[in-house]
Amino acid sequence: MSLDNRPVYSGGCQCGAVRFRVEGALGDASICHCRMCQKASGNFYQPLVSVRRAKLLWTRGEPKRFRSSNAVWRGFCADCGTPLTFEASDGIALAIGAFDHPAEIAPVIQWGIEAKLPYVDAIPALPGEETMADVSSAPYLADLVSYQHPDYDTDQWPPEFADGSKRDSTK
Ligand SMILES: [Zn+2]
Ligand SMILES: [Zn+2]
Repeated sequence: MSLDNRPVYSGGCQCGAVRFRVEGALGDASICHCRMCQKASGNFYQPLVSVRRAKLLWTRGEPKRFRSSNAVWRGFCADCGTPLTFEASDGIALAIGAFDHPAEIAPVIQWGIEAKLPYVDAIPALPGEETMADVSSAPYLADLVSYQHPDYDTDQWPPEFADGSKRDSTK
């Protein structure tokens, strides 16, 4: 998608309370292995892409922020906890997995490799299975109903039920 020949990207948190749009070119995409990025993402490393040269708009809600150091604030959805931003004086980076189409944003560099967890490089060699490969051991998968916000902008979220009630997003 583009606007005036500028690329446009969208994304947001898992519950849909926070949504963003980026107009313009993204900066370098990276993963950071540092201990702070592990903690902030709850993950082995944090994938981020700089939007400092683009225009970032919060189109629904805004992240809550935690100041993780004197130089950096980390933004996340206060309702569902999805990590969303890394904010420093030289600009903002967004979590790649929060974009609606993260497959377009391939990392080109790793940072913080002194803190890389010892098993990360072995992950691609692990045995792999598709989600539904063993539905007998997780029978709820057969009739799973997703409450995750879809990978596109919506006029209203969560959707209203036919009787006018809204799904309780606090549960
Ligand atoms: Zn959320
Ligand atoms: Zn880091």
